[in-house]
Amino acid sequence: MTEPAGIYVHLPYCASRCGYCAFVVTTDDSTRGRYLTAIETEAALVAAEASGARFDSIYLGGGTPSLLAPDEVARLIDSLRGRFAFDDGTEITLEANPEDVGAAAARAWARAGVSRVSVGVQSLEDAELSAVGRRHDSARALAALEALSGEGVAISGDLILGLPLQTAESFRGSLRALCEAVDHLSVYLLETEKSRVLEDDRRRRPERYLSDDGQADAWLEMGEWLAARGFEHYEISNWARDGRRARHNVKYWTRTPTLGLGVSAHELWGDRRRANVSRLERYLAEIEQGRRPLALDRELSAVEAAREEIFLGLRLAAGVPEVRVAEVAALAGDDRLSEDYEGWLSEEILERAGGRVRFTERGFLVSNEVLSRFV
Ligand code: SF4
Repeated sequence: MTEPAGIYVHLPYCASRCGYCAFVVTTDDSTRGRYLTAIETEAALVAAEASGARFDSIYLGGGTPSLLAPDEVARLIDSLRGRFAFDDGTEITLEANPEDVGAAAARAWARAGVSRVSVGVQSLEDAELSAVGRRHDSARALAALEALSGEGVAISGDLILGLPLQTAESFRGSLRALCEAVDHLSVYLLETEKSRVLEDDRRRRPERYLSDDGQADAWLEMGEWLAARGFEHYEISNWARDGRRARHNVKYWTRTPTLGLGVSAHELWGDRRRANVSRLERYLAEIEQGRRPLALDRELSAVEAAREEIFLGLRLAAGVPEVRVAEVAALAGDDRLSEDYEGWLSEEILERAGGRVRFTERGFLVSNEVLSRFV
């Protein structure tokens, strides 16, 4: 294994459930102590298999990792450091909700080794935030970013495009204010179809939502605006200032090995795709009996691995070697895929550059349709 690997830890506890959430979360934190012990047990169970590997990233995701007490975060990081071989300068990311970020927490996280905080800002308009059940308001989000700014950690902010009540103007305002405070930005399109409540609302009251064309225009305008301010669009949903790409996340798109600890966590290890069960009680019960609760554990075939290389690699602005796309289209035995591929190039959804093929900025907007053909 040449590239250092990463470790993802899923922390499923949230103070309340947001209207659009599709993650494995719980608002009942009565199992939290057991869960943190279970993560340490799971780390011990996988440590032997990972004994020859070097690591250079930890990602504490969720859920809301910032709900943990700072000493719980420190203990978790120390326990991982004690079991795996980490490079100097390992990136340690913590996902945080703005309401949990104050000066004391920011300082304690930095002291525990956290080097990057990803803040779920989502919008800087109060009405939009409350429309999807977020617990913070705009002032709280700006205060969180301010608290982090003096701690020497890299700061990433998340925004959502397509929120109820959002307009092109309000999205522009959120984007511009957020960019002043972060060096990395993740922007997601709201997928109303993942939430019955939001899907019903959009059908009944479409006037509360930007149209699909309005979202596309806002997205393209955002790309130009960020590019002019030194943010590189390096992945479909991610922009970074120089040297601030999310090291851990890039491992997913380049198929670099990552371990996944915790309920519903996924991993790629030695060409095996694995995923833990997504029911919390079952996760705890099996770990407490000394075994990993794997719902999926499968070696990928060469064709599956090649397809992954395309549908994950194409997410990156750098794209993938064109020769690999042609090979995969041939391996897939799907004549229509080769034809469609030529069509995507002629329609300028994809473009060729230096032996590679990649999405155009406009092509990113319809990337789901293209990527799903390689899955
Ligand atoms: S805070 Fe994040 S993980 Fe928790 S419910 Fe909201 S969207 Fe889901």
